[in-house]
Amino acid sequence: MIYLDNAATTKMYDEALEAYMDVCKNHFANPSALHSFGMEAENLIKDTKKYIGKLISANEAEIFFTKSATESNNIAIKSFEGVALTSKIEHSSVFNSFKNSNFKEIRYISNDKYGFLNEDDLKDKLDNEVTFVSFIYVNNEIGTIQDIKKLSKIIKDFNKDIVIHIDATQALGKIHCDVNELGIDMMSFSAHKFHGPKQLGGLYIRKSIQGKIRPILDGGYQEVISSGTNNPPAIYACGIALKKQVESNEYKYIKGLNTYLRKLIEDKIMDTYIISPIESSSPYILDVAFANIKSEVLLHMLEEEKIYVSSGSACSKGDYSRILTALGIDKKYMDGAIRFSFSSEITRKDLDYTLKVLKSSIEMIRMVI
Ligand code: PMP
Repeated sequence: MIYLDNAATTKMYDEALEAYMDVCKNHFANPSALHSFGMEAENLIKDTKKYIGKLISANEAEIFFTKSATESNNIAIKSFEGVALTSKIEHSSVFNSFKNSNFKEIRYISNDKYGFLNEDDLKDKLDNEVTFVSFIYVNNEIGTIQDIKKLSKIIKDFNKDIVIHIDATQALGKIHCDVNELGIDMMSFSAHKFHGPKQLGGLYIRKSIQGKIRPILDGGYQEVISSGTNNPPAIYACGIALKKQVESNEYKYIKGLNTYLRKLIEDKIMDTYIISPIESSSPYILDVAFANIKSEVLLHMLEEEKIYVSSGSACSKGDYSRILTALGIDKKYMDGAIRFSFSSEITRKDLDYTLKVLKSSIEMIRMVI
């Protein structure tokens, strides 16, 4: 199997899986319980918050666990009202949360063909009514790394009370996520993107704005901003996975893979358009569009050879992808975007084989249309 869909989800690290099972077996008490067995489980949560807090230059009391980055994004966005700024290339859990939020107006900052946000447009759209901003840090479809530090400086220089949230789901563990350096107030993340368990998300919330957060789930408020019995096995495994991801030292290797596949595709397959930028882009993601190809057909042809990728141009209700539309991609490429996303388990030999299957599949599809 050649698994090139790591931006969709990653395989759990063995260490994380073992930690998960150990907590399930040996520390299964309810962490809210008053007895010492419960406190053991609670301490595992505290230790994990401490680790994540230290990693992002925050305090443990500023880290909250949720069921997913989707929940984190919803909580962040639905806690505020007034006028918001965001973009059209956000993950759907941000884009659609805004549609169902309390904001009276949502302004979309324009972007270039690589997904970089336009700073002049940001300056134009900032006014005294703006209360909240949400931007994606690493774009999940194309890999573009937004210059959050620069954008947040523009925003905070205009009005330091504007709350800035970023969706760092494809960033945490892979690129530097220091909340003070970035100048942000909230940050969402998700354990299954860095080889941790699924259905375990998190939200960093700066102390000074915590009083403004409105929980979506009411109940025991175990995580203050969310309710429901906490999940110590997943939380502890999340911390173990994040530490391993951070210490993996794989960035250079992944970048090598990305550059290698990019070049193979450029050199060997005609009429392609590489959507992911070369600079300021996550090496974990490579989005490529092939002219006159239906990505879904190509995806299934790759799958026949046990090569798993994602379609970067998944349409909804017959429309073109929102992201590709916002990037202004030429129509002939619109249907044919494929996202390759890497992990350290991938080798160059895997990519040689992927290229071979990709090339023959594309030639076959192009022959029949
Ligand atoms: N934001 C981004 C950028 C993502 O890539 C994803 C997952 N595809 C999410 C949010 C949602 O994460 P989760 O699966 O934890 O809800």
